[in-house]
Amino acid sequence: PPQINEDFEEVLGWADDVRRLGVEANADNGTDAAKARELGAEGIGLCRTEHMFFGAERLPAIHEMITAETSEERKTAVDKILPMQQSDFEEIFTAMKGLPVTVRLLDPPLHEFLPNLVEQSLKVQEMELTGADAADVDKERRLLAQVKKLHEQNPMLGTRGVRLAMLYPEIPEMQARAIIRAVLAVLEREGETVDIHIMIPLVFTPVELEAQRGIVSAAVADELEKAGKQVDVKIGTMIELPRAALVADKIAEYADFFSFGTNDLTQTTLGISRDDAENGFLTEYLQGKVLAQNPFASIDVDGVGQLVAGAVEKGRAAKPGIELGVCGEHGGDPDSVHFFHRTGLDYVSCSPFRVPIARFSAAQAVIEERSGAVERDK
Ligand code: PEP
Ligand code: MG
Repeated sequence: PPQINEDFEEVLGWADDVRRLGVEANADNGTDAAKARELGAEGIGLCRTEHMFFGAERLPAIHEMITAETSEERKTAVDKILPMQQSDFEEIFTAMKGLPVTVRLLDPPLHEFLPNLVEQSLKVQEMELTGADAADVDKERRLLAQVKKLHEQNPMLGTRGVRLAMLYPEIPEMQARAIIRAVLAVLEREGETVDIHIMIPLVFTPVELEAQRGIVSAAVADELEKAGKQVDVKIGTMIELPRAALVADKIAEYADFFSFGTNDLTQTTLGISRDDAENGFLTEYLQGKVLAQNPFASIDVDGVGQLVAGAVEKGRAAKPGIELGVCGEHGGDPDSVHFFHRTGLDYVSCSPFRVPIARFSAAQAVIEERSGAVERDK
């Protein structure tokens, strides 16, 4: 466990007395969630469910789910995944009982999950040449055909997030069922559960959220009815595309909460690939040549920040009680935390190890505001 000495804890306690922003953490498994809680996280602001499928033993299940050719096949595939998802969630919910947890439905750029096109072609060729079992060859050929069909030039701008869920509604339905079963199992076992939030990624129109809300809430209602239980479940969305920020008032109609995904919002507002911005020329270009700070590390107040502030205003005007947070990397960056405080968000969510710095920064932001050093951003 992380060693934080008592003095440090005491100073953090002072910061907690002063800050207004809540501080949550991004975690995808029970170990990280427990670490986050130990470091003072007041909830999980982002649980990325696609990370639950990176393990070699899990990948075939997600291949099957994404490459199924019929709804029936997909249903069979997701039914195999449901219990795995349920146990993943139970671990996290047990670590976080009594606190809010925001589970984000699947958001995989497909290239991270599908076999590589060239490798799969070679595999099929080799199997054919070596006279492998006909049924096995056939299975790999079908996978190859699906990989070709789903291949994208720009996967980060492709069939990600809600788009996948719109194409294959079996997936969000399965995830919603797994979440509720885990919530109820933890309640049964521990006598307490989490304040569950289900989050839809990469939405840019209220049409998507309305549809997904329908699928998720029907699955939630069905699970609760079968169990004869009542649990308050919040359904909301990421705001991580410029269009979503611009129509935030309309999206708010179907959202109990917004969580700003400033990683994708920065990528799409500046038109710069977030994966490539970590290397060579782009880093130099972004940090110092054209902008004072790397916008992926510290929020670009003049650009991305305006979209966030505008969406906060629109969201609250349309739905005064809407919960507002941020779960992009910026949630743990001191300058960005100051900005989110000034913008009036309810909480920030960051990597577990950045939770203490976010707690300090949130308190500093209050002190700065009291001293009149800054004006509140609108
Ligand atoms: C984001 O885009 O800011 C976000 C939190 O989602 P992800 O990093 O998983 O794309
Ligand atoms: Mg994102």
